[in-house]
Amino acid sequence: MRKIPTFKLIPEPVTDEARRLPGFKWAADDVGKRHQLGGPPARPISDASWPRCPDCNGRMTFYGQLDSINDEFAIADAGLIYVFICLDCNEVKAVIESP
Ligand SMILES: [Zn+2]
Repeated sequence: MRKIPTFKLIPEPVTDEARRLPGFKWAADDVGKRHQLGGPPARPISDASWPRCPDCNGRMTFYGQLDSINDEFAIADAGLIYVFICLDCNEVKAVIESP
């Protein structure tokens, strides 16, 4: 399993519709700002539940995490979407991690 260095992703609204979206009312300050490529997941994953590739059965590489956008597009009560990839087989898996 290869490890990708950590990149912080900063979402930039592209359309007027995106720019006009209201933000969060009740979420903690960091919610909506935890988009990331590579690095370790925001919340550790146990070895037992770390995703394995359906083709080669190897441990998949953590590719990144996606955060909520606002109260309307919120992921599982301040959760995150984790994305994993097997760079050998081009298989991907996404899971929701919620507090
Ligand atoms: Zn594989």
